Amino acid sequence: MTKMHRQSLVAYGQPLCETVVETTAPSGGEVLVRVERCGVCHSDLHMQDGYFALGGDKRLDVTAGRTLPFTLGHEIAGVIEAAGDAAEGAVVGRRVAVYPWIGCGGCVACLAGEENLCSAHRHLGIAADGGFATHVLVPHARYLLDYAPLSPAFAGPLMCSGLTAYSALKRLSARPERGPALLVGLGGVGMMGLAIARALFHAPPIVADIDADKRKAAVAAGAAEAYDPSDPQTRKAVMAATGGLLAVCDFVGSEKSLQFSTGVLARGGKVVVTGLLGGMFSMAAAMFAIKAMTIEGTLTGTLAEAREVLDLARAGKIAPIPTRERPLAQAQAALDDLRAGRVVGRTVLSV
Ligand SMILES: [Zn+2]
Ligand SMILES: [Zn+2]
Repeated sequence: MTKMHRQSLVAYGQPLCETVVETTAPSGGEVLVRVERCGVCHSDLHMQDGYFALGGDKRLDVTAGRTLPFTLGHEIAGVIEAAGDAAEGAVVGRRVAVYPWIGCGGCVACLAGEENLCSAHRHLGIAADGGFATHVLVPHARYLLDYAPLSPAFAGPLMCSGLTAYSALKRLSARPERGPALLVGLGGVGMMGLAIARALFHAPPIVADIDADKRKAAVAAGAAEAYDPSDPQTRKAVMAATGGLLAVCDFVGSEKSLQFSTGVLARGGKVVVTGLLGGMFSMAAAMFAIKAMTIEGTLTGTLAEAREVLDLARAGKIAPIPTRERPLAQAQAALDDLRAGRVVGRTVLSV
């Protein structure tokens, strides 16, 4: 068997380091994919920390059920290198994006096609070894999606940041037909959200981010207007310009972002939250009814939605977001830059 090189999590809160093991020969329906590109996602930082910040001193521990060394990375595009004898359609050499949100297959969520919400999941890079490596083992060929004519550096991130943004935008339902959507937070998911919103909605969305460079990148990518939510005058300015908004996606998920997102809603408005930054959010309970407000959370997306967003991109309807490629050996440096807020768009590791 060939050797497999990985940038592994060997201890929580510590830098990744290289480990080398033998690749596992796929058996039954399994498929071994040689990784070409793997995107670096904000949630990789939380996995490396071993917890999510819940606000105050509270933390959600996410170290359970994972043995170290462990391989992060869930935005994978690669080439089928080997397949078990029962892996139908897994032709060696086929180039595929890997749907990473793999469930147990037997629970209520999985049976409804929502493997991303499975409570006994095997999500790649979260509960099973992921793509910061030369190879990844995928349990079934149905998670492998053709991505031609896209580049692997675009196809990989579509499986998390693209899918998350797509699923969130869909949950706004018909509201974006009645006024512009607002996208809060222009990291990798937010920028992908902007590109997808340009494909799905007739009016270009407005955006908000505290970082001037990110606002500039968003305007260059077609945002109608870009606001700085840290400016205390911004809420009033948004209300004056729009009369209040019906459709908001919060790609940050912090106290401040949720205060801003709910603060600019019109009656009947909805905020879809995908961000996981952390902190506590409180709101006057009566405002739910007074504003006929909806706040809904979403976590990545289903396999069916992954196909939909990939089809949209393959049809040329989603403009690629700014992407920086770095070699796999720079995985830790890429995580450090992401943590420090130095990344515009997406970073993709080249394997
Ligand atoms: Zn992700
Ligand atoms: Zn399940």
